[in-house]
This record gives sequence, C-alpha cells and structure tokens, in this order.
Amino acid sequence: MFDITKTVRANILNLEPYSSARDEFEGSEGIFLDANENPFGDLNRYPDPFQKTLKEKLSEVKGIPAENIFLGNGSDEIIDVCFRVFCEPRKDKALTFVPTYGMYEVSAAINNVALTKVPLDDSFQIDTEDATPLLDDKSLKLIFICSPNNPTGNSIKAVEYMIQNFSGIVVVDEAYIDFAASDSLVKKLDLYPNLIVLQTLSKAWGLAAVRLGIAYAGKDIIKYLNKVKPPYNISTPNQSAALTALQDIPTFSLRREIILSEKDKMLTELQKLSFVLTVYPSDTNFFLVEVTDANAIYNQLIAGKIIIRNRTKIVKNCLRITIGCPAENKALLAELKNITL
Ligand code: PMP
Repeated sequence: MFDITKTVRANILNLEPYSSARDEFEGSEGIFLDANENPFGDLNRYPDPFQKTLKEKLSEVKGIPAENIFLGNGSDEIIDVCFRVFCEPRKDKALTFVPTYGMYEVSAAINNVALTKVPLDDSFQIDTEDATPLLDDKSLKLIFICSPNNPTGNSIKAVEYMIQNFSGIVVVDEAYIDFAASDSLVKKLDLYPNLIVLQTLSKAWGLAAVRLGIAYAGKDIIKYLNKVKPPYNISTPNQSAALTALQDIPTFSLRREIILSEKDKMLTELQKLSFVLTVYPSDTNFFLVEVTDANAIYNQLIAGKIIIRNRTKIVKNCLRITIGCPAENKALLAELKNITL
C-alpha cells in the first residue's frame, strides 16, 4: 500500500516552506510595498508563485483539476524536485530503464542518489521478470519510466504493471505523448496514488524556450512538490507565453498534424537508403535509426550543416533524427542521399 508519509523524506515532511510576500497577500488590488520590488517598469513585480491562471487553463485543456497540477521550469526542474522530495541522499535509490532520457541519471548524481539502470529488452520494452524482484528493495523510492521513450521512440507497455507492483513513486515521463497513438496516463491519476505524470510544453506545444514542465499527481504529492520548489520558479513572461499557446488549440493541432505527416514521409524515404538497417517504430517526433556506420554518417551531415543526434554510445550505430519542417526534412534527405561510405 502506498503511504505518502513513508515515501517523502523526513526533513521535507517537516519542512516549513518559504512564505513569499505574494503567498501572504494574494489580492491584486492595492499599493504593493511588501516585496521590495521596484515601483517602475513592466516586469517589476514578482510572478504568481503558484501560477493560478495558467493552471486553470491547463486544467480546462487537459480535463484535470488544477489542484492536481504542479508546474516546473521545464520538466527537468520537476525531475530534480522529485529527487529532493523523495530520496534521501546516499541512502535511498531510484531506478530507470535504459536506454532512456539522460537527465534521470544526471539528477540522481547531483542529488547523490544511487540509480539502478535496468536494460530494456530487444524491443525496448521492460522485462517485468527482471524488474519485479527489484521492487521489494525498501530503499528504492522512485522509478522513472519514459513513455514514449527517448531515444528509442516507442511506448512502454508495462507502465501500469510497474505502478501497481511498486509501493514507492513512479514518474511516467510523457514528454512526447501528444505525438503518440496511445493515451496519456493522466486519466488514471485517481487509480494510482503513487503516480506522477510528467508532460512538457517543449515538444508538441512548440515552447521549448519557455521552459514549462507539468506534473500531474494526487493532491498529497503536489503539496510536497510545492514545498520544495523555488518560490517564483515560472517567470511572468513564461506564464503569459504558455497561456497564449494553450488558448490557440487550432495552431497546436495544425502543427502537430504537419509534423506527423512529415514523419510518415520521412519513414518511407529513410527506408529506401542502403545504409539504413532499421527505423525503429516511433510514437514521438523523432526516429531512432540503426545505420551501418553512425559516426561516418553523423560527421558527413555535420559537414553539410545538418545536426542530428549521434546515439551510438547508447544504442550501437544508432542516430536520432528529429522531424523538422518540410524544407528542413527535404534538406536532410538530400544530404543523406549524397552520403558516401
Ligand atoms: N523528458 C524527456 C523524455 C525529454 O526528452 C526531455 C527533453 N529532451 C525532457 C523531459 C525535458 O523537457 P523540458 O524541456 O520540459 O525540461
């Protein structure tokens, strides 16, 4: 059984969070002489620390109550906050399935938390027989599952099995979910008190510069994430830019459709290339592509000023290619057709 008080670090359970001027007086009318702000300028006031308007909009778009939403300065900040809330440095452990997004490992290292890396199987799926015995470890507090997974591109099938069979927190990173055929787990928050779903406006919403990561979770979990975050972690211009994008669903949908149709074309063209061995199935806006010589192809593309991600150190001879706009994809394919090996 999941018990939040056994999962949160003792010092965080008892932490008295910083109370900002804006926490103590929430009204918007009046003469504000409480926060040592400068009275002049357009960006002179601190932002709303709990991003009320933005959360209300997200709540409407996603159909999730605002009280189940936490916002971070990118999902990268939320990954770090999860370590700080749930893992006692040098004592507790976290677990993830590799190959996957590199920040889980970096954040674990920064927080001095041991990370168990369990290899995905040949289809980049979780081998539940391998993983299940590890779940009994009492010092294991946090599991990260990236689905659809970066850099492999596929959705992970055993996510709910892992949530059901673990008494700590499972963070399901859905950064690419808007490109996927599968449904988000956010609709199942009520079923799983130990679930945190991570999403971001950096991918399908096209706002990587804005740094807006979203965690959906039960109220109890949200309470502890809020205790630990820096008081004003999302700037006012960033809150406004996110709000503007969320108000324009047609643009979001249109751009996503273009990316998905470009992705179909890219798949057909990549499969025609003699040095392409496998284009792995993708639920994202990128392909992991196995080639005969990843380093040589990567370097020739760089010489042509086309930058993709060489993932050969993580998955042998694999390149990760993001789907660009039609002109960018055309340029990439032209350059690929000229590759000499
Ligand atoms: N999760 C995954 C799986 C990612 O691929 C990325 C960015 N590449 C992130 C999280 C970070 O997202 P953000 O821009 O919201 O920090």
